Amino acid sequence: MNDHGNPKDATLAVWAGEEGPLWENATQVPVVHSVSFGYDDLEHWAQIGRGEISGHIYSRNSNPTVRVFEEKICRLERAQAATAFASGMAAISNTLFTLLAPGDRIVSIKDGYGGTNKIFQEFLPRFNITVTLCDTTDQGAIEAAVSQGCRVLYLESPTNPTMKIVDIARLAAAAHRAGALVVVDNTFATPVNQKPLELGADLVLHSATKYLGGHADALGGAVCGPRDHIRRIFHFREINGAALDPMAAYLLLRGMKTLPLRIERQNQSAIQIARYLQSHSAVEQVFYPGLDSHPQHAIARQQMKGFGGMFAFSVKGGYEAVKQFLPRLRYAHRAANLGAVETIVGPPATTSHVELSSRERAAMGIPENLVRYSVGIEDPADLIADLKQALKSI
Ligand SMILES: *Cc1c(COP(=O)(O)O)cnc(C)c1O
Repeated sequence: MNDHGNPKDATLAVWAGEEGPLWENATQVPVVHSVSFGYDDLEHWAQIGRGEISGHIYSRNSNPTVRVFEEKICRLERAQAATAFASGMAAISNTLFTLLAPGDRIVSIKDGYGGTNKIFQEFLPRFNITVTLCDTTDQGAIEAAVSQGCRVLYLESPTNPTMKIVDIARLAAAAHRAGALVVVDNTFATPVNQKPLELGADLVLHSATKYLGGHADALGGAVCGPRDHIRRIFHFREINGAALDPMAAYLLLRGMKTLPLRIERQNQSAIQIARYLQSHSAVEQVFYPGLDSHPQHAIARQQMKGFGGMFAFSVKGGYEAVKQFLPRLRYAHRAANLGAVETIVGPPATTSHVELSSRERAAMGIPENLVRYSVGIEDPADLIADLKQALKSI
């Protein structure tokens, strides 16, 4: 494609991957449901199969609609290459199983996404891969663990649900000194608020199901990074089969066109609502990296352009109070997902950390009276008024 200068995120979100020409002069990306692609010229077909010229053979390997989604996220993350997956978890597991081999060690944090934590605790050890999970906010401990040697340093920032921040640039430097690869799950921040590759990460992962799609109507995932790493991960995925469906790819890339607009609104609303809650007498604590009171606010300021649309808060009166007040919210889905145009709320005790006992949650620093709040694109004044009337029940 021919870029004039250096297009910004809002321009890339709309145009990247869609510069055309598209089929029959369509201005919108066609959803190509075809499983296979046919060729009369056997030599041409073979060249595509060997990857010598571009084209598609079979949709488990590549598909034109999925290709546009990959190009869009690749450009937004300022990566060389990207490959798409059926879900965020497929992106994470395929990436880890491509990079790791028996005898390897991986270092990560205790506050990682629940599904990722399951891979660390349940599946990787079966393949004789050592997993070291460090205190999320103890950057010195993570550096020390990495310096003992590892294949991969796996990070997430901000984390779920207590919005801890890890210093990506500092830890990436430590990992590179130890010869390790740095992988960052950027689902919460999105490339609009944080660009891990520019901070020194080697690979950046997404659950596109959340903010990238933004409408809670399609599952998908992606990994972005240097061409040779992405080629290896793509190869693992094409054989293991976690391919993104073309219809889901279309929904995701349509959602991505408004990603910078949505994130801008959600950044602005989240800080307003977080400040409101901080001053509310029924609220114990607010966890949002944009607040001065957040313990890693300084790191967040350094590595993020905006602080995102996710926060959590604890209410007085324990889990009973949460049960009282959540059903009273008018403008919120009570559900397990996040990052959509609608506001979504849920206690970690019934969503992301439901499989744990209350004691295990306490050990992870997740109180029973915590509520996770994913701000939608509604008018923030309406959301504040809604919280105000619901919190009256406490
Ligand atoms: C949701 C989520 C995932 C998993 O994505 P799916 O699309 O549900 O498979 C991974 N990481 C983070 C941070 C998430 O929020």
